Amino acid sequence: MKTRLETIHTAIARAADRCGRNPEGIHLLAVSKRKPVSDLMEAYEAGQRDFGENYAQELAEKHEELPADAHLHFIGHLQSNKVKLIAGRATHLHALDSVKLATRLNSKLEESDAAPLKVFIAVNVGIEDSKHGLPPKIETVTEVVKAANALPLLDLRGLMALPPYLPDPEDVRPYFAQIRQLRDTIQQNTGIAMPDLSMGMSHDFEVAIEEGATWIRVGTAIFGERL
Ligand SMILES: *Cc1c(COP(=O)(O)O)cnc(C)c1O
Repeated sequence: MKTRLETIHTAIARAADRCGRNPEGIHLLAVSKRKPVSDLMEAYEAGQRDFGENYAQELAEKHEELPADAHLHFIGHLQSNKVKLIAGRATHLHALDSVKLATRLNSKLEESDAAPLKVFIAVNVGIEDSKHGLPPKIETVTEVVKAANALPLLDLRGLMALPPYLPDPEDVRPYFAQIRQLRDTIQQNTGIAMPDLSMGMSHDFEVAIEEGATWIRVGTAIFGERL
């Protein structure tokens, strides 16, 4: 585990170097869905603090068992009735995809006296039926950007990319670039700051970094194949 994490940090540093970025601006989210807490603890011992989950119940259960300085990020599509499971437990939500969900999250956070939740708006950049997230349209994404920005307990960080799975990471590059441009445009049009881009997974994170990712979401390369 330690060696795998080191290998990824080295790859992050190399990718940052290739495009003249500071590696400190690139954060590693260890995607631990369907992995036992013992695996997360092994990564924790090796210094990893941010973990990504995409089942609300699983996030809530792991939250009880992990040290307080481990941060849980919810990265999957969140159904309204599951909001209560992650409010006050997750520090980040990578998959905000509607105004309704934004409003609901804000009121649950208010009720539970929780700290603001950092949010990314998920964009289904390849417009695939199999994926949640907003279509990559300026008007559609802007509407959710404005709503999230206006809610006191949501801390809008930026956009999250759900690109198509393509075996050659170079083929994913245009999708990452499209997300970055969409972010730049909306930021310019609205004046709302969106400093972060959540994009890149095990097989394509180096390309994502070259295209501006600040959070990469890596599962398999850290924890091995999921059952
Ligand atoms: C599972 C998952 C990942 C991690 O994928 P790997 O290929 O295992 O690195 C990243 N992002 C999301 C949204 C996921 O569901």
